[in-house]
Amino acid sequence: MYEGKSILELHELLVSKKVTPLDLAKDAIELAKKDNNNAFEYIMEQEAIEIASNLGEPEANNPLWGIPFVIKDNMSTKDVPTTGSSNILKGYVPVFDAAVVERLKNAKAVPIGKTTLDELAMGGTGTSGHLGITYNPWDESKTRLVGGSSCGSAAVTAAGIVPFALASDTGDSTRKPASLAGLVGFKPTWSRISRYGLFPFAPSLDTVGVFARNVEDVAIVTEVLSGRDDRDSTSSTKPVGKYFENLKNSCEKRRISIIKEIRDSVKDKDVLDAFNKTVEGFKKRGFEIKEVSLPNDLLLSLFPTYFVISCAEATSNNANMDGIKFGPLSNGTTFEEVMSDARTRGFGELIKRRFVIGSFALMKENQHDLFLRAQKNRRRIVEAINNILKENDFIYLPAAPSIAPKFNEASDRLSDEYLIADNHLCLGNFAGLPSITLPIGFKDGMPFGANLMGRAFEEKELFQVSYELEQITGLANIYAKGGNK
Ligand code: GLN
Repeated sequence: MYEGKSILELHELLVSKKVTPLDLAKDAIELAKKDNNNAFEYIMEQEAIEIASNLGEPEANNPLWGIPFVIKDNMSTKDVPTTGSSNILKGYVPVFDAAVVERLKNAKAVPIGKTTLDELAMGGTGTSGHLGITYNPWDESKTRLVGGSSCGSAAVTAAGIVPFALASDTGDSTRKPASLAGLVGFKPTWSRISRYGLFPFAPSLDTVGVFARNVEDVAIVTEVLSGRDDRDSTSSTKPVGKYFENLKNSCEKRRISIIKEIRDSVKDKDVLDAFNKTVEGFKKRGFEIKEVSLPNDLLLSLFPTYFVISCAEATSNNANMDGIKFGPLSNGTTFEEVMSDARTRGFGELIKRRFVIGSFALMKENQHDLFLRAQKNRRRIVEAINNILKENDFIYLPAAPSIAPKFNEASDRLSDEYLIADNHLCLGNFAGLPSITLPIGFKDGMPFGANLMGRAFEEKELFQVSYELEQITGLANIYAKGGNK
């Protein structure tokens, strides 16, 4: 009944008492139970009803009061199973809430479920979690992926079940599925949002992410999530901006750059046409648009650099899943036997492969040639990006090479055709910059998006320019009607 409504639309209904938080929670849970996209790890029925029944009087100045949302299952939730969509954590029930969950609960938003992901957030297809494939709600034939790793959160938001969702982003895991699912998907500046309770994948790249169906909602949620948390020593002490209040003020920073080689790596004519149209829209609104260049060898090195660094960090961070500290009680009489049994049975093929690659890069004899070399190259990449952002306020690019691929087309996206177009969003993680994807068009009934990246801690400006893009495309608040079936 309340399917597809935004935070502010629901807020109005709540404040005028046309609906209660309990009505909204029950409605969302009913939709969640009918979910046909394999997007849920766990529906928090009892918890949601309990929370929604005890929120007191409506809070007119708190847009999150009583609003239902979902949580990617790589974030700890107190007394609620949290699996990372991996068999190794089957049955694990954390004793504390992740900082972002706690902040949303304190703001009196209502969590209604935990969502599927690529196993432990390592992947981009939404197919590698222990529950299998998560489907794209826009595609009735159920042949297209929704993208990952935040597949479940993307599918639930795109189907209109809740207005926003928590996700995470190490290489593009919020912003790529946003493009494939017609959502606004945002990753903040590295350190802006506490990662306490988020399962680490590659901490030098990881951030929490947010999905919603318009920029306003993303700004509201980001403002609540941001700020120092002493339990995450990497979280920033910088004051948090008034993202929502300032959203509709015209952005003072108006220089947008397009990295020519990345744009040209996209071959899909419909995506390019829609992208160019939005560029014209920006020009009409008085933005200065400049084409800039990056060397091809640097662009071709993005994926290998990302892969070496992220796999190495992931190998180290997941060493605690040894069948003793974390993971099921396993067979064996020595630590090595127990660990090897737990990990052999607990992990899927794809991430085992990543751990092998990560271990290889970290071996003493290889470290210099692989891990350190990747780190040096990362520095080169970051310098190149920061140079662009000295004279330009934003970088604007197509977010993905095409609409959501079919499952059978997705296996080899590492060919030259896709190497740059499918992997450039990790620039935002290398440099720790805020980055947001918005829908800009449709092809064959499937949405696709573009991405804006700004300077570190300039979230306020990034949201303002995104809001203008939303006016240019007119694609706010779209969702896959009937996509829950
Ligand atoms: N798709 C990328 C990968 O496979 C990004 C994952 C992420 O951001 N969590 O690692």
